[in-house]
Amino acid sequence: MPSQPRALSGIQPTAGSFHLGNYLGAIRQYVALQESHDAFYMVVDLHAITVPQDPAELRVNTRIAAAQLLATGLDPELCTLFVQSHVPEHAQLAWVMNCITGFGEASRMTQFKDKSAKQGADRATVGLFTYPILQVADILLYQANSVPVGEDQRQHVELTRDIATRFNGRFGDTFTVPDPHILKEVAKIYDLQDPSVKMSKSAPTPKGLVNLLDEPKATAKKIKSAVTDADDPAVVRFDRDTKPGVSNLLTILSAMTDTPVADLEKRYEGSMYGPLKTDLAEVMADFCTGFKARTEEYLGDPETLDQILAKGAEKARAVAAETLARTYDRVGFLPAKH
Ligand code: ATP
Ligand code: MG
Repeated sequence: MPSQPRALSGIQPTAGSFHLGNYLGAIRQYVALQESHDAFYMVVDLHAITVPQDPAELRVNTRIAAAQLLATGLDPELCTLFVQSHVPEHAQLAWVMNCITGFGEASRMTQFKDKSAKQGADRATVGLFTYPILQVADILLYQANSVPVGEDQRQHVELTRDIATRFNGRFGDTFTVPDPHILKEVAKIYDLQDPSVKMSKSAPTPKGLVNLLDEPKATAKKIKSAVTDADDPAVVRFDRDTKPGVSNLLTILSAMTDTPVADLEKRYEGSMYGPLKTDLAEVMADFCTGFKARTEEYLGDPETLDQILAKGAEKARAVAAETLARTYDRVGFLPAKH
């Protein structure tokens, strides 16, 4: 078999459930790329502790995250699925990357600005500041060609490209320069109550957040009470600027049912927002029912789940160790004698 290009991505175990933005913006692309790529996907627990986590909850959420990834269709025979902290090379390469990243360059990362502002700037950790540089290491360790992520991660992939290029220039060709894999239509799913901000695990209220593992009935209710746009007459039309609420619902329904937005606009011509919401609520409730059942099945057999993760970590380490060894050599570290 000719060797496939590499893909790499990660998702944080920072909540007890993934949300619709994670699913449409990132995880669906993971599933698609496992067919065409040599794909590495990980639950990024090192990233999760950049904000405070309860240790027992983090452990539980890490297994829940892995179970959800399997429930969306990741196949451990087709891709490498693992937990980031099981592969120590991530932290090791991150240190080297820290040392070739400019302080000013890191200071320009908008996610740090947003997240530290949310927490109160004096409570933000150095770990949160260097989060993007750990992400650089994550990607470069696997010589990834493609990085499936949502729009909010574009800047971090750009940083990765800059640092890979700089390292290659300074020390000789070492790293593949990766491309972001961002699908325009679903790159940013918005909060149902505030369609000016991205749907996020750390939203100030859970009312606009569609968690895939919530009770399907609760999810349907959230969709029915999504804010829509107060224009007169209430026309179902896609316009991100003047109708952000309805446009978000159209984006979601379009992606969930593989129906072009234009066809949906036609379907709801002459109707108010009600039928659109009712249909989307039903689609989501159906999807979440199956998803929850599959996730619970994986969680019901933690031994098998842990075996999948152990095998994934072993496969990941084989690749990561090789890249780290080459990097250590390039920067001039004396090899340890065994
Ligand atoms: P947190 O608020 O803790 O950062 P998160 O909701 O952003 O959590 P992450 O684990 O940081 O989730 O991100 C996992 C993936 O989901 C990333 O590729 C990210 O770009 C993508 N993603 C997150 N939120 C959205 C969204 N609203 N729309 C599209 N993609 C998203
Ligand atoms: Mg995030």
